[in-house]
Amino acid sequence: MASSPQNTEPANSNPVGDAVWLKFWGVRGSIPTPGPDTVRYGGNTSCVEVSADGEHLIFDAGSGLRPLGLALVAEAAGQPLTLTLLLTHTHWDHIQGFPFFVPAYQPQNHIRVLGYEGAKRDLQGTLAGQMESPYFPVALSQMPGNIVIEELKEMSFCVGKLAARAVRTKHPGVTMGYRIETSAGSICYIPDHESTPGEHGGDVAKLIAGADIVLLDAQYTANEYAVKKGWGHGCLDEVVRIAREAGVKRLFLFHHDPMHDDAFIDVMLARARELAGPMFVDAAREGERIALKRSPVG
Ligand SMILES: [Zn+2]
Ligand SMILES: [Zn+2]
Repeated sequence: MASSPQNTEPANSNPVGDAVWLKFWGVRGSIPTPGPDTVRYGGNTSCVEVSADGEHLIFDAGSGLRPLGLALVAEAAGQPLTLTLLLTHTHWDHIQGFPFFVPAYQPQNHIRVLGYEGAKRDLQGTLAGQMESPYFPVALSQMPGNIVIEELKEMSFCVGKLAARAVRTKHPGVTMGYRIETSAGSICYIPDHESTPGEHGGDVAKLIAGADIVLLDAQYTANEYAVKKGWGHGCLDEVVRIAREAGVKRLFLFHHDPMHDDAFIDVMLARARELAGPMFVDAAREGERIALKRSPVG
């Protein structure tokens, strides 16, 4: 496989204990895909944990939120958790883990849920909707954790010390992409976005400009995209091109298609690296932890 030295550098070589890091708990799009053919990249839907500058932030509540919740509870050992859950949108693959998030069942924990208005209902109503009978036995209002749901109105906001920015992405309904600034660099999370051929200077391109780490929807190959135009997901070749043009430092292909097994994603990654030039590119893998390092200068 063709790859530059930058591309083969291990992305998670930083020791545990770094101040700023993210961890992939779910990298799959649309529906969980457990099974022997998806063990390396993982089958859980969108969920990414970020620890930065004293804040504990979680992007999206796909099925990866369930194992993350178990890990958080084990680590906390009874001490209270303070967490912020930032949702891109309320499609099921981005909220289906919430009813199974164990920290939300513990009264000592504080969970702030942030997101924008749902396509047809407000954020609170949409999250409560998936827990209504007959879909689930416990109502959102019955979860004993201290859960505060806040619908964002502004496109710039703060999560504690972290400055955050949102843009609307090209995806059905109201869907956001986020950029957060940490003391060790910027992280962009854009799991659902249709990067289209010929796209230049759009909102997402501006959002990711010069970013240190970018997670971007790369669900389809160019051939697949040709028959799935308008479905709201990215075309691999365009995703790499847009990231390169924007001066992204490390690109992670995200929201893997449920039809793509590990071997297929390997091929997509090889293609992405052919197109990436000197830019680092990898495919997001469930369980992988990525550290951000402060610049040695300044
Ligand atoms: Zn999705
Ligand atoms: Zn979606």
